[in-house]
Amino acid sequence: MNMVQPKVQVPDIAAQVSYAMRQMGVAPIPRNYELFYEAYIGSNPKLTKDLASLGSRATQEELDAIGTQYFGHHQGSAVQGCHGRIVNELQDLLSLLKDEQNALENYNRVLAETHSRITSKSAASADLLRNAIGVLSEATDTTMAQGKVTVEGVEAKSREMEDIRKELDEYKRIANTDSLTRLNNRRAFDDRIAAIYDSQRGRTTTALIVCDIDHFKRINDTFGHPVGDKILATVANIIKTNVRRDAFVARTGGEEFAVILDLTTPEDVMMIAERIRKSLETTPFKNSRTGVNYGPVTLSLGVCMADQTEDPHDLYLKSDIALYCAKNAGRNRSLLFADGMKKEASKSWLLYRK
Ligand code: GH3
Ligand code: MG
Ligand code: MG
Repeated sequence: MNMVQPKVQVPDIAAQVSYAMRQMGVAPIPRNYELFYEAYIGSNPKLTKDLASLGSRATQEELDAIGTQYFGHHQGSAVQGCHGRIVNELQDLLSLLKDEQNALENYNRVLAETHSRITSKSAASADLLRNAIGVLSEATDTTMAQGKVTVEGVEAKSREMEDIRKELDEYKRIANTDSLTRLNNRRAFDDRIAAIYDSQRGRTTTALIVCDIDHFKRINDTFGHPVGDKILATVANIIKTNVRRDAFVARTGGEEFAVILDLTTPEDVMMIAERIRKSLETTPFKNSRTGVNYGPVTLSLGVCMADQTEDPHDLYLKSDIALYCAKNAGRNRSLLFADGMKKEASKSWLLYRK
């Protein structure tokens, strides 16, 4: 093998400076290298002498003191110190950012305080910190502005959604309300009666009352349909005011109403049915302007407990049978369904048929 040898031997100053630094246990950092380089080449014999006098274990402070004396290294170390402080500050700010992600306004306040705190520091460090914090502050402002826009957007959307929800609730209320009497309508009633059988408690403690105005056709024929409508509204009010607030009251057909009562007994529900009946019976229907008396208006009522039945259809059917019996027994009365009750005629007093 034939190796080519360099013609001129160049002294490896860098290697020798590094070797000397290692021998003296000096940290291999640029400002120390600069010091040892100058001492090695002998640009300032006094510097070489001072450095040699430190011996084999020079501290960084002693090295920096020589650097400051001969090269004005104080600025470098100041920058180094500032760098550390900036790093610390930024790390603090970073951890603040992380901690305060959900409270950006608070974070912005901390940034503003920090900013004014560093203004009093030396020019170089203050500029660096000011710039760094200025950038962060700007970014925070943008994020906050964006966050504000997002919050406002979300608030506006949730207001819109609340309006839509209210509108839908209103549509649902209208769809479930009888316009003449303001009671629940047939649709709402069908849902409510089906729900009785969703729970064991409903099956055992719920009662249905069905009511049908007696000889209403006659009332209509005698006084006219508009009077009939007013009477329907009055009857609805009388039923409503004679039941508990939690009772479900519906107009299930032309002159037919239903009441669903929770947590009740046959005795309770019969007492309420009778209260409704007597209240209507004693209500005057005299036209104050013409003096014509439309009354008395009476109701027949059929009552059945859910625990006497299998399903909603059965409950309605048995209540209808009890109502039929009340009509047959002379009207203006209420009857509780009992086994053996039969519907002998073909006529149903209720519109509801399956
Ligand atoms: P019953 O005692 O046997 O129940 O006799 P009824 O006359 O009440 O029974 P029927 O079923 O023969 O007549 C019901 C009447 O109710 C017929 C209909 O004109 C009337 N009606 C139904 N809906 C309305 C309504 O919305 N307004 C008015 N004014 N009348 C109605
Ligand atoms: Mg009738
Ligand atoms: Mg009827």
